[in-house]
Amino acid sequence: MAIPVKTLKLARPQLLLDKLLVNGDWKAAAGVFAVLDPATQGHIASVADGTAEDATLAIDAAATAFQSFRKTTARERSDLLRRWALLVRENAQDLAQIVSTENGKPLAEATGEIIQCVQTFEWFSELAPHYNGAAVPSQNHAVRITILRQPVGVCGIITPWNFPALMLARKAGAAIGAGCTAVVKPAEDTPLSALALAFLGEEAGLPTGVLNVVPTRSHMAAVGSVLTESTKVAKITFTGSTPVGKMLMKQAASTVKKVSFELGGNAPFMVFDDANVDKAVEGALISKFRGSGQTCVCANRFFVQSGVYDEFVTKLGRAVEEKLRPGHALDEFITQGPLINKRSMEKVCSHVTDAIAKNGRIITGGKPLPELGPLFFAPTVIADLDPESARVFSEETFGPFAAIAKFESEEDAVRLANNNEAGLAAYFYTSNIGRAHRVAEALEVGMVGVNTGVITEVALPFGGVKESGFGRENSVYGLDDYTVMKSVATNIA
Ligand code: ADP
Repeated sequence: MAIPVKTLKLARPQLLLDKLLVNGDWKAAAGVFAVLDPATQGHIASVADGTAEDATLAIDAAATAFQSFRKTTARERSDLLRRWALLVRENAQDLAQIVSTENGKPLAEATGEIIQCVQTFEWFSELAPHYNGAAVPSQNHAVRITILRQPVGVCGIITPWNFPALMLARKAGAAIGAGCTAVVKPAEDTPLSALALAFLGEEAGLPTGVLNVVPTRSHMAAVGSVLTESTKVAKITFTGSTPVGKMLMKQAASTVKKVSFELGGNAPFMVFDDANVDKAVEGALISKFRGSGQTCVCANRFFVQSGVYDEFVTKLGRAVEEKLRPGHALDEFITQGPLINKRSMEKVCSHVTDAIAKNGRIITGGKPLPELGPLFFAPTVIADLDPESARVFSEETFGPFAAIAKFESEEDAVRLANNNEAGLAAYFYTSNIGRAHRVAEALEVGMVGVNTGVITEVALPFGGVKESGFGRENSVYGLDDYTVMKSVATNIA
């Protein structure tokens, strides 16, 4: 039986916002768009559908606010971010419900995302006052060189639907820590988390116009053009698909903006003969099936060495059947929500159909679960695939499908792993310390998990290489992309 429509039970119903935030005002737009629960297709809210004009007003507000915000001390911005973190923590249960309902991820995962938002705001609160320029020795006796790190200016922030709260925290937290102002365009499927976080940012005391949010569905491309082409916007930070990233990069070239992009991944997950197979299965479950396989660091291509191949395949299939439970995000004991939309469902179906057509062996799953709702797909494991021909090995699935191929040697594994245009994350399991270093160094990615399926935390520089983008978020380097270096040479003679 299809899951019945669920209603949100918020302690603070005012956190469910449906307006634009421009220059400190919550205002309607000319139209609205519907935000639906992906599990039930139930209506959650009708949200203001921002236009290019709304985006222009938001940029103007951010540009005006920047003139004074850039002069705040790092300590003042640190205090703001700490207050924001506290408010997010206090309202964590409401925020997690909002994330779960609009994104579909289980409440436990959504709560984890909100806790990561708290940690992110705390991190940038701590980093901001310790972020330095430098004084460097000159070659000339009469000259002193000072390097200033100044906020870049107004940031255009475009976020995806898979971490609708965390991506805002990562980008806005860094921008505000550095002294920038921002205009956020959240993903059209999940604007409510961003609006709720922005509301708490206002409560924390963000000055008027520092953070503006313009959700949109009908005018997405127009708002994107305004953000990328406005001379008042100094930087674009984007997390999303590679094709959209390439297009935004072209648009941003017109004004030579600073850009940082975290684009699609297609993470390899390798298990060597000398690995602890049970731990590898545990890591695979998290790395592959978290968010129903819809995170950019999710494992997409499994390569398993011949000596442990059968054991790994059997154990992963059993673990998927025993431990993963699809259902509604707000129901207890579920681990797998729906896919985000019809387009995602079509892609997962096409990759699984292709894998079966190419002689893949279904270990478990392999089909949609229409009895739960139109966007549910069974957690799936398919083995014995040929990485040269199955589509899942060249394109990111973004769904709950573990595709497995066999390899014989370390060289093969590295070659297969690197045979992809994406280069975000990779995972491998081995008990050989030499191999751990060799393989980690050889992989063409920005992040590597060795004997772990979880890499993300605020201390780790997050980002990719190749067509997965550039720039690093979080970590001690997390403010670099939001500042510009100014070199001052002073003649003291
Ligand atoms: P996905 O395919 O996973 O939905 P997208 O790259 O389409 O990823 O979406 C990521 C973000 O990019 C979302 O906020 C989405 O609204 C935005 N986006 C998509 N197309 C455009 C566009 N033409 N201009 C600006 N933003 C866009």
